[in-house]
Amino acid sequence: MAVTRTFSIIKPDATRRNLTGAVTKMLEEAGLRVVASKRIQMSKEQAEGFYEVHKERPFFNDLVSFMVSGPVVVQVLEGEDAVKRNRDVMGATNPADAAEGTIRKSYAESIEANSVHGSDSDENAAIEIAYFFKPEEIVG
Ligand code: UDP
Repeated sequence: MAVTRTFSIIKPDATRRNLTGAVTKMLEEAGLRVVASKRIQMSKEQAEGFYEVHKERPFFNDLVSFMVSGPVVVQVLEGEDAVKRNRDVMGATNPADAAEGTIRKSYAESIEANSVHGSDSDENAAIEIAYFFKPEEIVG
């Protein structure tokens, strides 16, 4: 299995509850290495651009408001089959459906405030990494 990269966000519900370390520990225990990380306050424009694919969805405006409601931690994660590995440890979008031992089962508050984002394909991972990080900020 190839070593690849994915993009992760620790969302405002998790930073607000001081869960940055707890979430990162679960990512690391799942075999992912944090090769870039920064805590930022996303602007409305940045959040709208990031979630552009969802702009026709009914939850779009609420999601953007939530994502700018507090700081987030954006990360690049590296590991074998990183996209799938991260999606597996994140758990289902709705914490009510998330499996035991996943980040969302452990920490998510709701389908919106669900603690983490993770890219859903290698192609989107590359786009999302480039949206927040310069190549020199990533140290593998
Ligand atoms: N979301 C929401 N309501 C929904 C579905 C999704 O607020 O009914 C939010 C939630 O924060 C989710 C994000 O929109 O993580 C992106 O949705 P997606 O379906 O891509 O889920 P994910 O890939 O994050 O599991």
